[in-house]
Amino acid sequence: RAKEEGRNRLRLYKSELHQQLLDDSALEEALRRALSNGELRLLYHPQFDANDPKRLLGAEALLRWDNREKGPISPERFIPIAERSDLITELGWRVQELMCKDIHEWQTAGLKPPVISFNASPKAFREGKFASRLREIMARYGISPGQLQVEFTEGTLTEHSDTVYQEIRELHEGGIELAIDDFGTGYSCLVNLKRLPLAELKIDKIFVDGLGKNDHDEAIARATLSMAQAFGLRTVAEGVETQSQLAWLQAHGCNRIQGFLLAYPLETEAFQSMLQSA
Ligand code: C2E
Ligand code: MG
Ligand code: MG
Ligand code: MG
Repeated sequence: RAKEEGRNRLRLYKSELHQQLLDDSALEEALRRALSNGELRLLYHPQFDANDPKRLLGAEALLRWDNREKGPISPERFIPIAERSDLITELGWRVQELMCKDIHEWQTAGLKPPVISFNASPKAFREGKFASRLREIMARYGISPGQLQVEFTEGTLTEHSDTVYQEIRELHEGGIELAIDDFGTGYSCLVNLKRLPLAELKIDKIFVDGLGKNDHDEAIARATLSMAQAFGLRTVAEGVETQSQLAWLQAHGCNRIQGFLLAYPLETEAFQSMLQSA
């Protein structure tokens, strides 16, 4: 009996796995089509001065995919699928293209957008040509250095690849700021803080969630803030949803706040209106 049950469970598991693979490859194909059928767009998540939460200091470009049949699909779902294929490279270029186009439009309208951050996958750094390709796109839209920041996670750094360090150097020399995203959630050595030309550390929502109620989350946030200060790096807290989290971050010297308490990620036009009234 037990054996029979085990076999059934295995069969069930196998068919779920099979279904998952089918779903993933269907999604991958749909995502490939999305690159040419206009289903991709960016939202901009505003970042504010922690000590003056009305003051806009930056924004993060976040990719969105609305599939005609399946509806909106979360980046938490489609980015990992893209990462497993060559699609992530194409998506990365598309994000840079859309972002530069938007910035160009805002500037043409006489506005002064703050530094815009975008997310780059580990693959972008490992393949090479990341910095040079970005430079090309920026030139095409007349975007000057100093206007952009690239966010990457610790996972980008685990292989200690020369190509990765070369790209980082090239981006930095080209005037692109560098930020470590989701700091403290991945595997990387702290020596990177010393060795890399970083501008910013982003404190992940999983730690921010515990501020004011979990000693361990507070200890991690406090340590991150104090290391950042020692290294002269800016800090941004992500996922700030409550007034008490904001108060904690203000009291502990965090520089910037990004979270639903202050704003949701905005459509291009809504972000432009925010710039107009800033
Ligand atoms: P991330 O780069 O850490 O982005 C922050 C995520 O936290 C965003 O989710 C944002 O909407 C969310 N967030 C910020 N504040 C709050 C808050 O107060 N409450 C809640 N509940 N959420 C908050 P999103 O847009 O779903 O992105 C998820 C992840 O997908 C990103 O994490 C990033 O890793 C990836 N991603 C998004 N856009 C891109 C992209 O253009 N390229 C790449 N490679 N990855 C991207
Ligand atoms: Mg990010
Ligand atoms: Mg993050
Ligand atoms: Mg994240």
